[in-house]
Amino acid sequence: MSDNQALFERAQAVIPGGVNSPVRAFRAVGGTPRFIQRGEGAYIHDAEGRRYIDYIGSWGPMILGHGHPAVIEAVTAAAREGLSFGAPTEREIELAEEILKLVPSMEQVRLVSSGTEATMSAIRLARGATARSKFIKFEGCYHGHTDALLVKAGSGLATFGHPTSAGVPAEVAQHTIVLEYNNVAQLEEAFALHGKELACVIIEPIAGNMNFVRASVPFMTRLRELCTAHGALLVLDEVMTGFRVGLASAQGLYQKLIPGFKPDISVFGKVIGGGMPLAAFGASREIMKHLAPLGGVYQAGTLSGNPVATACGLATLREIQKPGFFEALTAKTRRLVEGLAGVAKEMGVPFSVDSEGGMFGFFLMDALPQNYAAVMTTDKERFNRFFHGMLDAGVYLAPALYEAGFVSAAHSEADIAATLDAARGALR
Ligand SMILES: *Cc1c(COP(=O)(O)O)cnc(C)c1O
Repeated sequence: MSDNQALFERAQAVIPGGVNSPVRAFRAVGGTPRFIQRGEGAYIHDAEGRRYIDYIGSWGPMILGHGHPAVIEAVTAAAREGLSFGAPTEREIELAEEILKLVPSMEQVRLVSSGTEATMSAIRLARGATARSKFIKFEGCYHGHTDALLVKAGSGLATFGHPTSAGVPAEVAQHTIVLEYNNVAQLEEAFALHGKELACVIIEPIAGNMNFVRASVPFMTRLRELCTAHGALLVLDEVMTGFRVGLASAQGLYQKLIPGFKPDISVFGKVIGGGMPLAAFGASREIMKHLAPLGGVYQAGTLSGNPVATACGLATLREIQKPGFFEALTAKTRRLVEGLAGVAKEMGVPFSVDSEGGMFGFFLMDALPQNYAAVMTTDKERFNRFFHGMLDAGVYLAPALYEAGFVSAAHSEADIAATLDAARGALR
């Protein structure tokens, strides 16, 4: 058996930083990443044979836990029929129909292979449909690693955004306006200045890429109004929240809170693939008709709508629609976060928590932050000690303080109790 450190060294020789996605390298928390050998239910096992209760769930997709029998059966049956054809299949229609049934704001959907691809295509579609170039994103929201989205705020609302990654030309960033999340006044100012040039606004309705920050109802209400008034499209990035915070996704929650609320374009990923590379974006027929081959907005993919990935996604979506699924997941996730808050209180540690469906966040601070700057005031050293304390006790949390956590249907009450015990030790 190899150990994690030996594998990490071997990996670093042939893969930059030893990982194929940077957060896996544990750079934020320090230490050696665990190389995972297999998963079963709520657990993952590393190369040293250690078992962890998994609260990452592949960063969201594994809502049923690892190796759910119905999913494995669907995937293996599909694989036997063929891995990829590059031609349409009936299963793509079935998955599209299933998604549209659950998300009434969309009339058509296009399947792609990653969240990055889906948000990139959604923005191109918004630009094509409106014949405008500029768009707004919010600080702390992550929408994949497309050039125009790797941008931070400029020095003022009238100035351009700056690339946050080397290799992104300043010219590519100049159409991206970056604003503070939940800041209504700044949003109004930006629309007053740029409203007529805005193709769209893209937002995570519950921002899981800054741990767990909800768009406030007044903020989301005003955002919808401003988009409508200025002819900009509202793009809801539900790659993380989609079919994770509830069967109706985050848009379903906001529909209950804001009369008539609906996005113009929605983006999904993670859960809809159930652990296979699959994502989607969709909108009304009126907007989707701009996409090739019907319209002039080009978008394509060799593996788009892959037969094995669609089988995995379909099996997952069917399981989460079973009666009581989200009620049970929501209640279990609530018990976890309330339990953690209780332990922190016992220990006299500042702590705040929130959750929705099977997605949660916790902050080592007294009140829930409302934007990225506030999230970043977290005591990083304390978070890192907590992370490693939990990992040593067999609980695998996201290795960065700005990441959300995920509970699956496979987590048991005993797993939650074990997690709370671990937290008691780690916060000591
Ligand atoms: C994960 C994520 C993405 C990117 O998806 P990938 O499949 O990693 O490319 C985009 N938006 C949000 C909100 C995400 O959480």
